[in-house]
Amino acid sequence: MTVNPLNFILNYFRPSLHVRHFTDVNLLLLKRNGIKLFISDLDNTLISPYKKIPTPDVKIFIQKVQELDMKFVIVSNNTKNKVNFFCKQVNVDGKYGNSKKPFLGTVKKVLKDFNVSKREAVFMGNQVLTDIWVANRLHIDSILVNPIIRVLKGNKKFLRSVLENKIYANLEKNNLLIRDNYSVIEKFEQEDILL
Ligand SMILES: [Mg+2]
Repeated sequence: MTVNPLNFILNYFRPSLHVRHFTDVNLLLLKRNGIKLFISDLDNTLISPYKKIPTPDVKIFIQKVQELDMKFVIVSNNTKNKVNFFCKQVNVDGKYGNSKKPFLGTVKKVLKDFNVSKREAVFMGNQVLTDIWVANRLHIDSILVNPIIRVLKGNKKFLRSVLENKIYANLEKNNLLIRDNYSVIEKFEQEDILL
């Protein structure tokens, strides 16, 4: 068997699941697969980076996770202030702001704090270069969502988006991820039971 070294590297940026929006995540499927901890990025995954108040669909989503007896945790590189404020609005105790992704320290701490194994956690985010890379290095299943809005400000973010786009292009070229080609999910089951 020949191993393409580029594919080996690219696999670190490949999500386990790709969905358009967090409301498309099949929570029952996660539950059935033994997931006990739902870790989520905040900005551009759950809300716009420029907003701080959770929308009704975010509230409902988090409530559904909790009703299925899974813990919900936010791991964000934004300030602790913004993360704490958001978490208070949605009744989430697991709040980890200033998380310094793509470093692994915060997510490792989350697993320890909640006493779950890597197999029992899932990580959802909008960036392959931070969220998905973190999850894959830790062997946690990952869910890639489309950003809520596509606006970037500042040089650092611009550079990051150029890098992200390069990774996306390579993933697509190697058939590892097709943008906007979403994972097939059994959404109807989820709606039957949860709504
Ligand atoms: Mg984000």
